[in-house]
Amino acid sequence: MHVYGLIGNPVGHSLSPPMHEAAYRELDMDARYVTFEPDTDAVARAVDGAAALGLDGLNVTIPFKRDVLDLVEPDDLAARIGAVNTIDFSTSPPRGYNTDAAGVRRAFAHHDVRISGADAVVVGAGGAGRAVAFTLAETCGTVHVANRTEERARSLAADVRSELPSATVTAGGLDTLADRVPAADLLVNATSVGMDKDETPVAAELLHADLAVLDAVYSPIETRLLREAAAAGATTLDGAWMLLFQGVVAFEHWTGRDAPVDAMNAALRSGLR
Ligand code: NAP
Repeated sequence: MHVYGLIGNPVGHSLSPPMHEAAYRELDMDARYVTFEPDTDAVARAVDGAAALGLDGLNVTIPFKRDVLDLVEPDDLAARIGAVNTIDFSTSPPRGYNTDAAGVRRAFAHHDVRISGADAVVVGAGGAGRAVAFTLAETCGTVHVANRTEERARSLAADVRSELPSATVTAGGLDTLADRVPAADLLVNATSVGMDKDETPVAAELLHADLAVLDAVYSPIETRLLREAAAAGATTLDGAWMLLFQGVVAFEHWTGRDAPVDAMNAALRSGLR
């Protein structure tokens, strides 16, 4: 039997187990997906222990994504971002990937949204904003990072430029959205705004029909930003698509097989209802 899992603290409400186990059922795989909640100072022992026990793969979530970087051989994207959310134990040392980032590209591709050469605006400069900015900067024409704490946006943009010198990456406070969003092709909300209250980080009048909008927030599934973007005629992708495709890409790294996207999506969305 293959064993995959998730380490984080806390992991109690994770939707990864039903999403991955739906894939195992669909492909008739002898596999299980288990959650683990090590103490916050025990991640190195947890990863060593997982390797010693013969686990096949682990997803990694808050607060361990950065700590794990030093415990694995990260691929280029994970190394640039400085965070790993997927470990593949089939090699020694284990390989580390950032499928939050790769999943964003797959989510856009799944919706036939072309990101190559696009002008993108990323709102947020925390963990999700970092993954999104790095992955979009690889293919988009321009990336503008806007964040409530402007200095954090500037620092992220400088990190991206130093890793990807040919990328055009700018930064500013949330006030810069008024200039940037009307001319943008892509907009990603990577803040937590919209999660607890029916609020949006982007004023409705800035949204337009030529925009594709991805909201990383997945609870609620339909945020105010997505509602207002749809009303403006924009293409909308909810946060479950980002969550789904990070899982899809992880599954494909672990198994070398195409993931059963529809089965995983159905399991994820039934957990989000
Ligand atoms: P984080 O590292 O804590 O960053 C939080 C971000 O939100 C920062 O940019 C912060 O700005 C901003 N923010 C928080 N409250 C704000 C407010 N009231 N007004 C304006 N900006 C505000 O969190 P994270 O890990 O990046 O997660 C961000 C969101 O993405 C969460 O909702 C999370 O659930 C979601 N997420 C989704 C997926 C997915 O697969 N769908 C994956 C990862 C994360 P400051 O820097 O100014 O504090």
